[in-house]
Amino acid sequence: MTRMQREEWQDIVRDVDWAFAYADDEAVFPEWQSGTGSVPREAWKDWEEGYKITYPEYVAVQREKETSVFAVKAALQRSKVFDDLDEGWKSTAKAHFGATSLIEYIGMIGELRMARFGLNGGWRNMAVMGALDEIRHAQISLAFAHEFVPKDPQYDWALKAYQTNNWAIIAARRLLDGITCDANVVDVAIQLPLIFETGFTNLQFVGMAADALASGDINFANMISSIQTDEARHAQQGGPTIEILMKHDPARAQWVADKMFWLTGRVFAILTGPAMDYYTPLAHRKQSYKEFMEEWIITQYMRTLNDYGLKKPWYWDQFLENLETTHHALHLGVWFTRPTVWWKPQAGVSRAERAWLNQKYPHWEELYGEYWDVITHNINRGEMASTLPETLPWICNTCQLPICTHTSSPDGKWRVRNFAHTHDGRQHHFCSDVCRTIWQEDHDTLHMKTMVERLLAGDVQPPDIPGLLGYMGITPDVAGDDAYGYKWAAEYLPGKAAE
Ligand code: MN
Ligand code: MN
Repeated sequence: MTRMQREEWQDIVRDVDWAFAYADDEAVFPEWQSGTGSVPREAWKDWEEGYKITYPEYVAVQREKETSVFAVKAALQRSKVFDDLDEGWKSTAKAHFGATSLIEYIGMIGELRMARFGLNGGWRNMAVMGALDEIRHAQISLAFAHEFVPKDPQYDWALKAYQTNNWAIIAARRLLDGITCDANVVDVAIQLPLIFETGFTNLQFVGMAADALASGDINFANMISSIQTDEARHAQQGGPTIEILMKHDPARAQWVADKMFWLTGRVFAILTGPAMDYYTPLAHRKQSYKEFMEEWIITQYMRTLNDYGLKKPWYWDQFLENLETTHHALHLGVWFTRPTVWWKPQAGVSRAERAWLNQKYPHWEELYGEYWDVITHNINRGEMASTLPETLPWICNTCQLPICTHTSSPDGKWRVRNFAHTHDGRQHHFCSDVCRTIWQEDHDTLHMKTMVERLLAGDVQPPDIPGLLGYMGITPDVAGDDAYGYKWAAEYLPGKAAE
């Protein structure tokens, strides 16, 4: 039997739009879900993905990917690779598993919403495959982490993290809910495929794959590279959507892209920043976080802006300046509050590592050296209580991360500032003018109580550190501690100063 050529039938199965006889278009594609806004309904007929794939092709390719990933996993299961992995590197993997395994699942919800409410048949088809991709990513991440649970209970947080009120997860959940669930699907297509996936997952999945390979974690590198190949395909839903939006409502396209680029950048600063500049063993670092951001995110995002006729975000200079500071401050905060996280933060401030940081970041010593000096001194005097928190840092009402980013001022001094805003008689606090502006515009869809507000409202009982750890789901067997048991501090003992 001869089969029809793909070109002959693909359009028929791809374009499944028709005029409804028994229901209004508005009933099938309600505005609050579909979100066409001021874009005429017919304009969406022009939506077309660049790289087309049919369902049989999809299944064949995915089957191959799964087979090869699990073949490597099976081969490594018999080796001792895991036992030899560096503790700092393992923390990168654990932070990743907890922060992203169920983000993949939330990504699936975004894809399914586009698969139902997207305003073009081709788009909805592409989103169905996107949803299948995200199911695979959630499952593969959980399966890979599960293998290590008997060896180290922190890997259990691949599944557990999103079920808790851990502060880092509140920040990630706020971001992902905002990207996939709270917005209409036109905005979702810009926020998820264009900004989050095209803009940023490269950083985590390509960048971390290189560091994983160098650190000897072949399994992890293999898994995230396989995931990234799917992302590259379904991420193309962003392009045609923004092209149509730019034609009819460029101001909306600009706002959604600017807002989400900033917010996603905040979360990656705490997830990927410390992993690249502190947790990955010095000898295995490919590039600094800033260098990676410059090469992979900024250059690529500039190209995206150019391709679609978008302007640079209004906060661009601030964004570039923050590459010198934000993730260093967040790393310091994560290390300091280490019992609150499900991995073991590697301080990453031995003499050799500090020399590397100073070479990569000209302001590092000036801004962060003194804090680490005090911490190191306290460790060496055995005053561990002084290296641990007594309460919470103030948290930004938009990005849900500690307010800790230094900004430069005309007098040459760098300072951490609080950006306040009173709304309905209540004071809100922000890490930056940008987060404040975003909240002022979009707090209806972006607001979530911060950990500090929960504490002050009496949600956390007792309102102290043990109460907070309980509220965050942290049990003694997973509470984070220094990756190397503070051994790195010994080279700063007075007798060793000459070295
Ligand atoms: Mn994914
Ligand atoms: Mn995705």
